[in-house]
Amino acid sequence: MERLQKVLAQAGIASRRKAEKLIVDGLVKVNGKVVTELGTKVSRMDTIAVEGVQLTKESPVYYLLYKPRGYISTVQDDKGRKTVIDLVPEVSERIFPVGRLDYDTSGVLLLTNDGDFSYLMTHPKFEIQKRYVAKVKGIPTRENLKKLETGIELEDGKTAPAQVKMTTVDKKTNSAIVEITIHEGRNRQVRRMFDAIGCPVQKLKREQFANLTTRGLNAGEARELTTHEIKQLR
Ligand code: URA
Repeated sequence: MERLQKVLAQAGIASRRKAEKLIVDGLVKVNGKVVTELGTKVSRMDTIAVEGVQLTKESPVYYLLYKPRGYISTVQDDKGRKTVIDLVPEVSERIFPVGRLDYDTSGVLLLTNDGDFSYLMTHPKFEIQKRYVAKVKGIPTRENLKKLETGIELEDGKTAPAQVKMTTVDKKTNSAIVEITIHEGRNRQVRRMFDAIGCPVQKLKREQFANLTTRGLNAGEARELTTHEIKQLR
């Protein structure tokens, strides 16, 4: 037996928190009866429906995609742009991206149908580390690198401490390569942090998400996570 909100989250209906709201709002039926009690336990034998739609029982699946630039991190796009889901056409489960990478950012992106897992990977309180490599315009001063490291004031508040390392300086092209590891996941956070020190990002790749990298994959390729990798993350 599992808690109802967990089952909904694992079915990819919503994050666990949103699933709780669906239940409390009276939108979930178990065996034909509305259930608003969050502690309700259900088993595989129960028939669950959300807003009148019966859940198909999908097993949870987990993929690591090496996202190339030029893809949007959503399931569908109104403007007809290519989405990350287009890169895994052979997957029949209803997967969605775990968090987002900008259209022009490349690198590690997880895809799953497990809403609960997605919540664990993206909520800042779990402090999942993400390492980015940024090619920036201009050469950041030591002082500015320190600012990135200790926290920088953005319009949505100060950023949490980050690890920062400048690995390359190219005086000829007046550019630099900086590695930055953060655990927050605000919208366009890395780009905004570099804008704030006057060194806009020209190219951005997420090299690492938790302990996962793009190693062994070409841009646009995906693989399933191993059982061991899933266990380590959960
Ligand atoms: N920070 C950004 O600015 N963009 C991304 O895609 C990810 C993190």
